[in-house]
Amino acid sequence: MNRKDFLLSTLRTLGGMLIGKFADAKTLFKGGKSKGLRIRQIRNATMIIEYGGRKLLIDPMLSKKGTYLPFPNSLRQDQKNPLVELPMPAEEIIDGIDAVFFSHLHLDHYDDAAKELIPKGTKIFVQDETDKKNVESAEFTNVEVLTENTSFAGIQLCKTKAQHGRGEILKLAGHVCGIVFKHPDEKTLYIAADTVWYEGVQEAINKHDPEIIIVNGGDNQFFKSGSLIMGKDDIYEVHKAAAKSKIIVSHMEAVNHYTLSRDELKGFIKEKGIASSVLVPHDGESYTL
Ligand SMILES: [Zn+2]
Repeated sequence: MNRKDFLLSTLRTLGGMLIGKFADAKTLFKGGKSKGLRIRQIRNATMIIEYGGRKLLIDPMLSKKGTYLPFPNSLRQDQKNPLVELPMPAEEIIDGIDAVFFSHLHLDHYDDAAKELIPKGTKIFVQDETDKKNVESAEFTNVEVLTENTSFAGIQLCKTKAQHGRGEILKLAGHVCGIVFKHPDEKTLYIAADTVWYEGVQEAINKHDPEIIIVNGGDNQFFKSGSLIMGKDDIYEVHKAAAKSKIIVSHMEAVNHYTLSRDELKGFIKEKGIASSVLVPHDGESYTL
């Protein structure tokens, strides 16, 4: 099978599965005037962010370990997703949430448990009208499409570009967006989401000058697809483009097609001498920034 045929067959195999139809605190920054920016890694890309006095939930994948078949044409076909349990009960994760952000609707960012557990009237932000319709079809009633100038409870939200891989695989991977959060009392936070390093990420860094950047770094891949999200070299490029920023790496070791482990990444950033700038939290770990 040549490369094109392979990609087409992967596209057919995956069908709706991927395209969303199922659809110990550490103080790292001293001083500043933050109201208490707190970032908690939950599992995969799911995070809870306390920002501007609000509690925000990012890309909730809330199902129990082993609920879904592995993503095909990739590593670990003997393991079901998610690979690990949540570090706390799902009910606790959604308790008191003020808004939810979906960077896109792949199964590892928006799953059946999220659909069932998140109260239907919760404020939800999505990247475009297609995702809005999709989320509304699960009876969510308060869904808004992000723009480059959206606001929520005094927080400025800016949608950014993101690119979920390189070349042919993008036809399968589809669209995704990143998000920048700004608030007069908080550090600027950029969630790059499911993207590789490319000019869109550079553009967001240049435009917003974020002090904190969250990247998705498991280097997930299908066989022959190349990176779907950041690998270690992509993360190094982000660091070089934003040397003063703290980078927090999420989306690690939770779905079967990851190719970069936390240990390997930690070894890499140590070797590059950037371990104080690039943080690799375990699930459940949180930072007050
Ligand atoms: Zn993902």
